[in-house]
Amino acid sequence: MQLYNSLTRTKDEFREREAGKVSMYTCGPTVYHFAHIGNLRTYTMEDVLEKYLRYLGKDVLRVMNITDVGHLSSDGDTGEDKMLKGARREHKTVLEIAKFYTDAFFSDCDKLHIKRPDVIEPATGCIPEFIEMIETLLKKGYAYEAGGNIYFDTSKLDKYYVFNDFREEDLEVGVRDSVEEDTNKRNKADFVLWFTKSKFEDQELKWDSPFGVGYPGWHIECSCIAGKHVGEYLDIHCGGIDNAFPHHTNEIAQSEATYGHEWCKHWFHVHHLNTNSGKMSKSKGEFLTVSLLEERGFNPLVYRFFCLQSHYRKNLVFSWENLENARTAYNKLVSRVASLLSSPDGELDAVAFEEGKRRFTDALDNDLNTSLAVTALYDVFKLDTNNKTKLALISDFERVLDLGIVDAAKAEYEANQKNEAESTPDVSDELLAYINAKIEERRAAKKNRDFATADAIRDELLAKGITLLDTREGTKFEIAK
Ligand SMILES: [Zn+2]
Repeated sequence: MQLYNSLTRTKDEFREREAGKVSMYTCGPTVYHFAHIGNLRTYTMEDVLEKYLRYLGKDVLRVMNITDVGHLSSDGDTGEDKMLKGARREHKTVLEIAKFYTDAFFSDCDKLHIKRPDVIEPATGCIPEFIEMIETLLKKGYAYEAGGNIYFDTSKLDKYYVFNDFREEDLEVGVRDSVEEDTNKRNKADFVLWFTKSKFEDQELKWDSPFGVGYPGWHIECSCIAGKHVGEYLDIHCGGIDNAFPHHTNEIAQSEATYGHEWCKHWFHVHHLNTNSGKMSKSKGEFLTVSLLEERGFNPLVYRFFCLQSHYRKNLVFSWENLENARTAYNKLVSRVASLLSSPDGELDAVAFEEGKRRFTDALDNDLNTSLAVTALYDVFKLDTNNKTKLALISDFERVLDLGIVDAAKAEYEANQKNEAESTPDVSDELLAYINAKIEERRAAKKNRDFATADAIRDELLAKGITLLDTREGTKFEIAK
């Protein structure tokens, strides 16, 4: 599989270290508020990647952290503590806030068919691991103490700016004017590994450590949590593109400084979800959540479909109108699958199955092109084969796309059957046999292009109060009461 790698800035053949076993790390949410649908776009695309790796027969171990401490409002260690902010807003403790929004996050994920990672680890559960890594970094000379905090010294690395699109100036992004620069830092890009009481006197969660009572910085948690569950080598690291710098850059810096070798070969970044007024955020414009989509009458899986219709490395523009279009397309797709269910019998056509599947894997093997994979799904309807094969292909693709269309189609088909049974006129067997014979006679006449006879049969029935209706599923009839 070819997959774009932010580290090499090319599409690379994705290769795990140990054949067949993939270790995958995902930066989890900071649980101080609901996730907005822009965050969830990232998790949706990562979910497709994970499911595709599994589809290819790989054994995936996916690890995710939950940030419940240490994340300040700017990713560059300035501003307010996000968890404290959430706790104050809702008059709750930090741990109550963390529990509530962790549950809310996974409930949103369930609605979007985002599989839960194999390992989910809150940052507050790994304090001993953080302390151990920070001690190693101090011992190796990559970290220093200043003003009570422990910092990572970025000048000790040969190459700090590994994702070349980013520069020192980018550190200014997100920093509000009112925030004072941290004068303890030796270099502008240095970052905090451990805060002590020098910051936030009202910090709720604090731990004892060899560096003083305090709490960890944000970046250290991902390195340690990955190390704890995966070891010193990681196959692929995922996240939103806004985390590439400084967060992922810092994860690489501290992991490689600790281990003394390359840490993670492949970096997968999902691009932004924008609104017409720019990048989506919690503080700007309408706060778009899964609950809001539901309140507006949208099935969350329509949003998943909307995400899959575009490539993960392109910015995607959200508008209610775009989502409405996705819903129309989604519902049509479900109806088309439902119509296949009316005659699902026959033998599986292995040649057509392989042909359909090849189009699907070709799309995803090419940098996870979900938009083309959705096209491959539409192509199934055009295949010259029976419904059984088409349904088998759609179910196969759903192992990755997970749009819920097969279940929705079954429900629609059953509802149709029920409606039909209810609307079938109550007629005697004798009359039914007569009408069916006439319908068959008319069909044969039409086939022979004898339209005069066909029309005469229709008129003959009409005179008896029986109206024929030609539908996609064949000719039906209604009897005047
Ligand atoms: Zn992270």
